Amino acid sequence: MSLVILKAGREKLALNRHPWVFSGAVAQVVGNPQPGEVVEVQTADRKFVAWGQYNPASKIRLRLMEWREAVRVDEAWYEQRWEEALALRSPWRGSTQALRLAFAEADGLPGLIVDQIGDWLVLQFLTSGAERQKAFWTALLARKLPFIKGIVEKSDGDGRRMEGLEDAYGVLWGEAPPQRIRLQEAGAWFEVEWGAQKTGFYSDQRDNRLAVAQVASGKRVLDAFCYTGGFAVHALRAGASSAVLLDASQEALAMAQHNVELNGFSVERCVEGDAFTTLRTLKKDHEKFGLVVLDPPKLAPTRESLPRALRGYKDLNLQALALVEEGGWLASFSCSGAVDPATFEEVIAYAAKDAGRTVQIVRHLWQAPCHPVRTSMPESAYLKGILARVL
Ligand code: SAH
Repeated sequence: MSLVILKAGREKLALNRHPWVFSGAVAQVVGNPQPGEVVEVQTADRKFVAWGQYNPASKIRLRLMEWREAVRVDEAWYEQRWEEALALRSPWRGSTQALRLAFAEADGLPGLIVDQIGDWLVLQFLTSGAERQKAFWTALLARKLPFIKGIVEKSDGDGRRMEGLEDAYGVLWGEAPPQRIRLQEAGAWFEVEWGAQKTGFYSDQRDNRLAVAQVASGKRVLDAFCYTGGFAVHALRAGASSAVLLDASQEALAMAQHNVELNGFSVERCVEGDAFTTLRTLKKDHEKFGLVVLDPPKLAPTRESLPRALRGYKDLNLQALALVEEGGWLASFSCSGAVDPATFEEVIAYAAKDAGRTVQIVRHLWQAPCHPVRTSMPESAYLKGILARVL
């Protein structure tokens, strides 16, 4: 077994069970560990810290997984983590077919994403350690989840490139999915494309769609950044009078419209374009809504981009507030990990001040339980939002 020794003074995070050790904290590598291989990690004075996966090609040199020295990280160990991950989701499995069954480091499984999308699993192997175990995971999941028809891989994104890995797509096991996979979420139907954004469906917003739908009855809804139309569909099912969909992507709009129709409703209008300008156009046209949903993509991918991103969030919320009728609602989100909930609320407060509106926050919204937050890893918390009445 290879050994990695940390620099003196650089072991605190690792001892506090943060799973990442950056290259700058590594003093010495003993042996010749291959990318993704499990190694022992020790402090500078040679005390055991943890077992972790090693990747010489990544700035995140180690992904720590097990802090008990006597425990062996073998196939049985991974299987046990999987059982724990599945057990965590069991209260929600009956009410939706779109669930994140494994959320990488947050579930103690570095780099492994397992999403259930209808009758299929969509997997992402985002680190060299996860990549090494592709065959193992495919066989294990096919055996453990007999209800699935097939397993596909959608391993892409910046994270994978930073690990020195190419993008990889394809069927790993069983039946190939149709172009659009049908799924049910809390009684609503969706047809989604696994090869498009994320793994086809934003299961992290599940509870928030239902929370927002609670105030939608009788309202004209604007679903801005609608993607598959999740917010609009649940709002209409809860009695919204109509829905306008807004997205920069023509494909997303077509899919969202299809999903609205799949549930027996029709769309009032689709607005295609950049929300930063289309929200202004709607304002110029004196459009008003009883509920505006703002769910932009990650505007702050890094800490450095934070100031610019905060200006972006402020602008979007300012524009959105101008479209809310008196006594209407704003549901606003940020999926940037670099924006903490308190800062996000400050952004809303500044937007309210500049819009000259009174805003009452009635709910703090958060990522769904299938996206757990590991307390030792603040990076696993990323989605936050507010539901607010606007006077
Ligand atoms: N609300 C969705 C998820 C939104 S994902 C849900 O509940 O599932 C973000 C969406 O924003 C994507 O569909 C993307 O096409 C869209 N988007 C990205 N940049 C945009 C922009 N500048 N203006 C409008 N839409 C944008």
